[in-house]
Amino acid sequence: MAITANSASNPTMAPSRRLEVLAFVTRTSGQDVRLCYQCAKCAAGCPLVSAMDLSPPQLIRALQLGQPELALGSDALWLCVGCQTCVTRCPCAIDLPRIVDSLRVWADAHEHAGAHSDILTFHRLFLKSIELTGRMYEIGLMGGYNLLSRRLFSNTDLALPMLRRGKVKAVPQRIQALDEIRGIFQRAETLRRAEEVSLRGAGRR
Ligand code: SF4
Ligand code: SF4
Repeated sequence: MAITANSASNPTMAPSRRLEVLAFVTRTSGQDVRLCYQCAKCAAGCPLVSAMDLSPPQLIRALQLGQPELALGSDALWLCVGCQTCVTRCPCAIDLPRIVDSLRVWADAHEHAGAHSDILTFHRLFLKSIELTGRMYEIGLMGGYNLLSRRLFSNTDLALPMLRRGKVKAVPQRIQALDEIRGIFQRAETLRRAEEVSLRGAGRR
């Protein structure tokens, strides 16, 4: 299967780095990409596949071939909305969104988003909104994104009518069980630090 990912954001990766990414993805996603036999049932159901430069099976194929930089440099990595359709269709029960999440975490930690840095900015702001309020605070997300992406007035023509009609809130609304959400973020941070320590240890060996 020919894989033609976005070459501009797709620098060659050293072999040791490739192994590091593949080990990270396997460990943190809990998925074994070797099980995928490229039947493409996942792609047939994916609502975003027509917009992706790498289809879901091609993303997995890049990992099978030991070329994670193809997946990391793809638009597809940042277009997946985690809808789980591919998971329900896969005869091998491969959880592709978990693989996507692991690749995004790695890209975030290693500033590997390249041409997709604006999407990464959106991704970070989205997670921060969930951490602080337990839900999406659209106006804060939009303001933060416009500021950091230097598109100050982007989408303001949509935001103002939505505010007026009460479709989005001017101030953040916190959920009641915010402690539970914060607990998830704290556990994720603990895992991230443990991962950092383990990677530093592997680098010394
Ligand atoms: S449905 Fe599963 S086995 Fe088939 S290509 Fe997709 S990930 Fe691979
Ligand atoms: S989770 Fe991502 S890859 Fe899977 S079907 Fe949904 S958008 Fe497509």
